[in-house]
Amino acid sequence: MSTVYFDNNATTKVAPEVFEAMEPYFCHLYGNPSSMHTFGGRVGVKVRDARESVADLLGCDPSEVIFTSCGTESDSAAILGTLVAIPNKRKVITTRVEHPAVLAACRDLENRGYQVVELGVDKLGRLDLDELESELDDDTALVTIMWANNETGVIFPIEQIAEMVTSRGIVFHTDAVQIVGKMPLNLSQSRINLLSLSGHKLHAPKGVGVLYVKKGTRITPLLLGGHQEGGRRAGTENVPGIVGLGKACELAGLNMKDENTRVKALRDKLEAAILARCPDSRVNGDTAHRLPNTTNISFEYIEGEAILLMLDRFGICASSGSACTSGSLEPSHVLRAMGVPFTAAHGSIRFSLSRYNTEEEVDLTIDKMPSIITRLRELSPFVQHAQA
Ligand code: PLP
Repeated sequence: MSTVYFDNNATTKVAPEVFEAMEPYFCHLYGNPSSMHTFGGRVGVKVRDARESVADLLGCDPSEVIFTSCGTESDSAAILGTLVAIPNKRKVITTRVEHPAVLAACRDLENRGYQVVELGVDKLGRLDLDELESELDDDTALVTIMWANNETGVIFPIEQIAEMVTSRGIVFHTDAVQIVGKMPLNLSQSRINLLSLSGHKLHAPKGVGVLYVKKGTRITPLLLGGHQEGGRRAGTENVPGIVGLGKACELAGLNMKDENTRVKALRDKLEAAILARCPDSRVNGDTAHRLPNTTNISFEYIEGEAILLMLDRFGICASSGSACTSGSLEPSHVLRAMGVPFTAAHGSIRFSLSRYNTEEEVDLTIDKMPSIITRLRELSPFVQHAQA
């Protein structure tokens, strides 16, 4: 049985071209890029080339690219690094729908005496920009708001938000982990100060990320030690990962049109067919402002995990938003923030596609889903309760 992989917001396959580009940097070109010798210098050149490829995709200067180990590190470095650099301000603004990489960092700040404001969203997962504006004050050090939501794919108007925030002299960070490679970016024309991305979401390997720091933005490094990354992130570089990320960024630029046409059409076909063939199903989130690869669908009266297990029997990989907390399944914090009813939030499934998905895979899933949903509803105590 072959695998049908619709869980690309969790992680992506390393592109074969990326793997090929990385391979020499394990056993052959293994020198330290900071070394004085020619052997290390050859590696240093490749790190420089990769930085240029990342900068090309982001539309920024290569000097504004700092390589990190993952999206989580980039988020922490942006948030903590800003607050250490601006010690006299004690307020941080974020949203209730952030990835835990941002939410947990912000909640930890609360324990350390910071005022943290978590903005809510409406039932389509949209922010109220007037509410954001009313929270901006002289004590605000940082606003951190994700560009695209990992669970629903909803895209926030980040350029507009960056303008609003930075025009008041406040630093703005965005977690762009899910949008980089899917939408064109031009950071040199933007007011965004700090941006995080993660290699493994765009067909580079796990263990490499980037923090973009706009020239003139003050941040204190999280990791201290050597002089790597211009003294902004100590630690010997993950050379194969960085080379891979550079290649992945080049490929992302070349494939962006495909992502927004063919991949989007596959997502739309999958979504429309599921909604048409599975009663009591609905899409979560603002479909007018959404990543081209993501759909989050709720099925009333059944558990998302049960659907995942049934799909797994056919080799189909998707995900649910629930988190396992002390042995019980908690519905996703994102869907709860959107006010999705308990019974629907519990039965939500995210399908996230990539350029490696095919029409046959979509057709197979469309074929299997109605019988899975019917079977699970026959077994569901919620349905029996609703019918009683
Ligand atoms: N931010 C978002 C929106 C994500 O989706 C993820 C990963 O799922 C992260 C941050 C964390 O990235 P990483 O796994 O590279 O630490």
